[in-house]
Amino acid sequence: MVVVVDTVSATPLRPRHPEKVNRPDALSPPKPDWIRVRAPNTRGYADTRKIVKENGLVTVCEEAGCPNIGECWDKKHATFMIMGDTCTRACAFCNVKTGMPGALDALEPEHVAEATFKLGLAHIVITSVDRDDLADGGAEHFAQTIRALRARCPTTTIEILTPDFLRKDGALEVVVAAKPDVFNHNLETVPSRYPSVRPGARYFHSIRLLQRVKEIDPAIFTKSGIMVGLGEERHEVLQVMDDLRSADVDFLTIGQYLQPTRKHHAVMRYVPPDEFSGYEKVAYTKGFLMVSASPLTRSSHHAGDDFARLQAARAALSR
Ligand code: SF4
Repeated sequence: MVVVVDTVSATPLRPRHPEKVNRPDALSPPKPDWIRVRAPNTRGYADTRKIVKENGLVTVCEEAGCPNIGECWDKKHATFMIMGDTCTRACAFCNVKTGMPGALDALEPEHVAEATFKLGLAHIVITSVDRDDLADGGAEHFAQTIRALRARCPTTTIEILTPDFLRKDGALEVVVAAKPDVFNHNLETVPSRYPSVRPGARYFHSIRLLQRVKEIDPAIFTKSGIMVGLGEERHEVLQVMDDLRSADVDFLTIGQYLQPTRKHHAVMRYVPPDEFSGYEKVAYTKGFLMVSASPLTRSSHHAGDDFARLQAARAALSR
C-alpha cells in the first residue's frame, strides 16, 4: 500500500503521482473485519484479463486498485477506462496515474466494442480519465464509443461514468445526444471535503451537470455516488442526498473510501455496515429509485443487476 511508483503499467518505477511524492505519509487505521475481498485467481478472472489485454484496453478496475476485481472479473464484469491511463486532475483519493495524457486512440471505440462483445456483457460500464487538455473534455470520444457499442452489441445496455466537463461548454450535450442508458457522474464526497479531496472540481457544477442530463433527455437514468470515511458528517451525507434529489438523480451509491497509498488521503473512519444500511433506508425515503450502500459498494459493482432493478423501479412508478 505504500508504493507511489507505477506497478500497474508496463513502464516500471515511473511515479504514478508526482505531485504526491513529497507529501508526508497519511496513516489510516487498520482495516476492519468487514472489509474482506476475494483473491483474483479464478479462471473467469484470467479469461477477462486476456480479453482486456488482447484489445489493448485500460480498466479502472486495475488502475484504481478496486477491491472487487476478483469478484467482478470472475463474472467477466470489467469497467473500461477510455482516453488513456493518465488523468489531468490529481484527486487526493484516486490511484489513477496523474500527468499529461497522450493523444486519443481513434480505434479505441471499436476495441471497447469488440471486447464487450467477446465478454458477452448484457450491460457495460465505460468510464474515463479527466481530459482537461482536450477542447471538448473527451465528449466526442465518449459519443463515438457509445455509437461503436450500439453497432457491435445492439442488445447491450450502456452506462457511462463521466468526468465533470468543467469549463467545456457544449460537451455534456454531445454525450447525452449519443443516448447512453445510464449517465453516472460521481460527486465523490460532501461539499465541505472538496478542497482537500477533490480540489479540481466544483460541487454545484457536478450537481448541475446531473440535472442538465435529465433536462435534456428525461429517459436517461442518472446516477451518482459518494465515498464515506473521508471526514464527512452524517448531516452532510443527508444534504448530499437532498441535493441529488433536487437534481432528479435516480440512483445513489455509497461506499467506504479505501486509501490506495500512504500519500493519498487517510481513511478517517471505517463506517460500519449498519450505518450503510441506515443511509440506504433514508435515501429511499428521499425518493431515489435505487440505492446501493455498503462498505464495498462501487459505482460499477453489480451495475448490470442494478440496471435491471432500476428499470423495474421506474416501470412500477408509471403503473
Ligand atoms: S466494482 Fe467496478 S471498478 Fe471495481 S472491479 Fe468491479 S467493475 Fe471493476
